[in-house]
Amino acid sequence: MTCRIEAGYTDFKIPVWMPGYYQLMDYPENIEQFTASVYTTTDSLRWERADRQTWRVYANAPGTVLLQYKVKATRQFVASAFLNGKQAFLAPTALYLYRQDHLQDPVAVQIDVPKGWQAATGLDSLPDGTLTAGDFDQLYDSPVLLGQLESFPAFFVRGVPHYFLAIDPGNFDRGALMSDLQGIVEAAVEMMGDIPYKKYVFLGIGPGMGGIEHMNSTAVSFSGDGYEKPAVRNRMLGFLAHEYFHHFNVKRIRPVELGPFDYGKGSRTSQLWISEGITVYYNEILLRRAGLISADDLLESFAGMLRNYENGTGKLFQSVAQASFDTWSDGPFGRTGDLINKTISYYEKGPLLAWMLDLKIRHATNNKKSLDDLMRRLYQEYYKGKHRGFTDTEFRQAAEQIAGVPLDEFFGYVYTVAPLNYNRYLGYSALAVDTAAVVVPGAWTGMKAQFRRDSVRVTQVAWESPAWQAGILPGTVILQVNGTTATANTMDSIRTSGRAGDIIRLETFREGKAGQRALIAGSEMKISWKVTKLKHPGALQQKIWNSWVAEDSFRAGR
Ligand SMILES: [Zn+2]
Repeated sequence: MTCRIEAGYTDFKIPVWMPGYYQLMDYPENIEQFTASVYTTTDSLRWERADRQTWRVYANAPGTVLLQYKVKATRQFVASAFLNGKQAFLAPTALYLYRQDHLQDPVAVQIDVPKGWQAATGLDSLPDGTLTAGDFDQLYDSPVLLGQLESFPAFFVRGVPHYFLAIDPGNFDRGALMSDLQGIVEAAVEMMGDIPYKKYVFLGIGPGMGGIEHMNSTAVSFSGDGYEKPAVRNRMLGFLAHEYFHHFNVKRIRPVELGPFDYGKGSRTSQLWISEGITVYYNEILLRRAGLISADDLLESFAGMLRNYENGTGKLFQSVAQASFDTWSDGPFGRTGDLINKTISYYEKGPLLAWMLDLKIRHATNNKKSLDDLMRRLYQEYYKGKHRGFTDTEFRQAAEQIAGVPLDEFFGYVYTVAPLNYNRYLGYSALAVDTAAVVVPGAWTGMKAQFRRDSVRVTQVAWESPAWQAGILPGTVILQVNGTTATANTMDSIRTSGRAGDIIRLETFREGKAGQRALIAGSEMKISWKVTKLKHPGALQQKIWNSWVAEDSFRAGR
């Protein structure tokens, strides 16, 4: 790279994260063979590594410097740089150094594109192919995909083109995918009443997991294989709708902490339940409004999240605001070990809260307003009006203004672990949730075990279960049950032929040590959390249900 500098020293830095992926990355460690010289000469300049992410370059006189370095690009992932014989993914935060205090400078990127390859990106380009960005925030928000790309048939919404370029996209009907995506984009644009970009690009980097949202593009791991199967198609469209809707919710409608970004440290916020949770909520709602899933599909996707959330124990320990703030400490493989028992996912509780808030607003306004109005308000007031994000307090104020009533109970659900009153909130739309605890027949230990190569290994221990009380940990091998060699059958018979109150003696083996444990079997209490439609809803309940499932707003022909 080349850059004008002053006499003295100048710090060049590489980010340590990519906005949208809330984990510290090893970008600094992947930079190798750094050199600095006076541009168009062979005069080397002295430099030193001032800290993990900083290269400090010294110059005796002002002028233009040439910085050269290599970047290790071995991981095929939406937040990592990648290069092999047939494709490259230029993850911008992994590649481009920025000059300290000069993030606002305009920047141009020239790419030596290999013969037969194409480049796809949300950035604008000059006639000679040079890519341009108004500042480093835009540059860092604009990945580039290179290779022998396949371009699916583009579509236009309000005259704005939408492209999908992909590597190895698999075997499926491209026209069907793009027509479905068009429906999703139209539903989102109709809801927000604006289309804030000049073009939008889906970048399919190849099969895998994950996606990251940007202002006018998204990089997604993508394979269309299986698209003809409804379950596969719905999941894929939900994922693409999620990344797409993020250009509104998180890139533009955003918590105040998420921009300007701190590329050197990462930006923490307790509002990811809004940015991620409300986006999950709308990725389902938009599929329904586009006529791509049924009312039953819509209800079942939220009912499934409700069951998952309620069947975990993390709900007793961690609020959704705390889960948002703590996401940076999850590590590269997400929540593992005992963290699973003590934490929640804002991808689960977030959409449940979005659902409840939506129905609360509809109920409080006689179905005149909804969460859509809140999203439009935040977009107009903060993104378009104030050019900044909102604080926790401002989000709450906007929500209460739209609802026209105080929302103390609702925000208690955000900042505490108070149990969610589903029957009140979902009841606004004529739904009921079965919260009655039922005794499951047989003896209960709370252990789940895996049988492999003649050994029985504990994989999960339910919180406060008999096995938990007896101090049994995941990873323990069970050798004997009540004096008999442990097998799949003996483990099964504890449950089927035992009773609550039975004493179960186990010979165990863990971390090189044999041991003995006795536990007293209990009874398992189960709540079905089943969501059903009320048989005799009131007029407002029915009205809210109809508009929520988009029953009365279907456009013909789609
Ligand atoms: Zn997301």
